Amino acid sequence: MPIKTIIEPFRIKSIEAIRRTTREERQKLVEAAGYNLFLVDSESILIDLLTDSGTAAMSTEQWAAMMRGDESYAGSPSFARFRDSVQAIFGFRHVIPTHQGRAAERILFSVMCKKGDVVPNNTHFDTTRANCEFVGAQALDLPIPEAKEPARVHPFKGNMDAARLAEAIERQGVKKIPLVMLTVTNNSGGGQPVSMENIRAVKEICKKHGIPLYIDACRFAENAYFIKLREPGYAKKTPREIAREMFSHADGCTMSAKKDGMANIGGFLCTNDDTLAQQQKDLLILTEGFPTYGGLAGRDLEAIAVGLNEALEEEYLKYRIASTAFLGNHIASEGVPIVQPPGGHAIYIDARAFLPHVPPAQFPGVALANELYLEGGIRSVEIGTLMFGEHAKMDLVRLAIPRRAYTQSHIEYVVEVILDVWRKREQIRGYEITHQAKFLRHFSARLKPVANRDHDECNH
Ligand SMILES: *Cc1c(COP(=O)(O)O)cnc(C)c1O
Repeated sequence: MPIKTIIEPFRIKSIEAIRRTTREERQKLVEAAGYNLFLVDSESILIDLLTDSGTAAMSTEQWAAMMRGDESYAGSPSFARFRDSVQAIFGFRHVIPTHQGRAAERILFSVMCKKGDVVPNNTHFDTTRANCEFVGAQALDLPIPEAKEPARVHPFKGNMDAARLAEAIERQGVKKIPLVMLTVTNNSGGGQPVSMENIRAVKEICKKHGIPLYIDACRFAENAYFIKLREPGYAKKTPREIAREMFSHADGCTMSAKKDGMANIGGFLCTNDDTLAQQQKDLLILTEGFPTYGGLAGRDLEAIAVGLNEALEEEYLKYRIASTAFLGNHIASEGVPIVQPPGGHAIYIDARAFLPHVPPAQFPGVALANELYLEGGIRSVEIGTLMFGEHAKMDLVRLAIPRRAYTQSHIEYVVEVILDVWRKREQIRGYEITHQAKFLRHFSARLKPVANRDHDECNH
């Protein structure tokens, strides 16, 4: 019988201690932080699932490569290794390093868009949307209808609605659409993958109108692995072959190396267009740096060059996707409402369904995230009414899994804490804001629990 247990495909050479706190300590810490987990020090967190961005554990090969980092201002061999590694996977003619993904986005939109333009995407990530709007263009989200129903299972829930894309191009006119984007996997839509069939269909439409297609590639390796698992005809292909095929349909990409680059910082912008590349490099020099380092140290370029290849290793992807699915499937089987099916990098709990007695105006996502911290020292993040105000369509709590950082027993611990909180969900109260900034309020808002009249009366 073949052995079925999926294990971490690595052993641990260097460890970082995590600190346990008592519930009483956490109560004081979270109160002092205005019940906003962004304002709690990371040393007071036991398991940090705030984000999978820049939080990966690097490999011995990456650390070894960093020692080779050449810090020359121009023409560093570290850049050559970085460029070759990117080109071997992504296949684009020009590779422009940036300090992280949003810098690539800013340069792309500054060069390609003008006021009044429209940029369709399956779903714009928040920095992508903000950079698009900053140059006066409209960020248009065109997810398939299934994406809007959390409980709905669909193998490629990250797909773009190709019919609506064709319609939008007809309605707006080709001149108003300088590019189309596809985000793989669809982060804001729950880490859901995009199928090769959908990439092809979107490319067909773009090609017909002469509009370039750019891929927001942050989780390209996870997307490639989902295609291997779920799309007919891809089971025997390697994730690298699948990734190459994905990018062969595109004219360029933006990338945050803090995700599937397995690095703690970095990103890049790629294009096949010589004229655009020159304009992009000119802008890069203005704000990021010379085109052979783009705001990164030579050692960062080396870490990314190695990390991109490690992210495509099949054993790694198998463990990565299984670990995220284990968390999601385990809590869902006990009745916890999650966005289905489990995504690549994160599990999203539907806080409105988890806490039906807490109205959206009292921030059910904040209430649940705070309870997970109080119960087990776990940090997650609200994606809902605090983040988006009254425009929020859902109140979700995202548990993002850092790459290679936690083991199976850490994930089992997270499952146990969530199920404990699930059992006493009726006692969880909502929150109200005591202080907020004018924009991006979720980072700095301060809150307090709403007074509970029943509870107070009982105490009399
Ligand atoms: C993280 C992310 C970005 C932005 O990258 P940063 O490195 O954080 O600037 C863009 N798009 C998606 C889909 C992302 O997940």
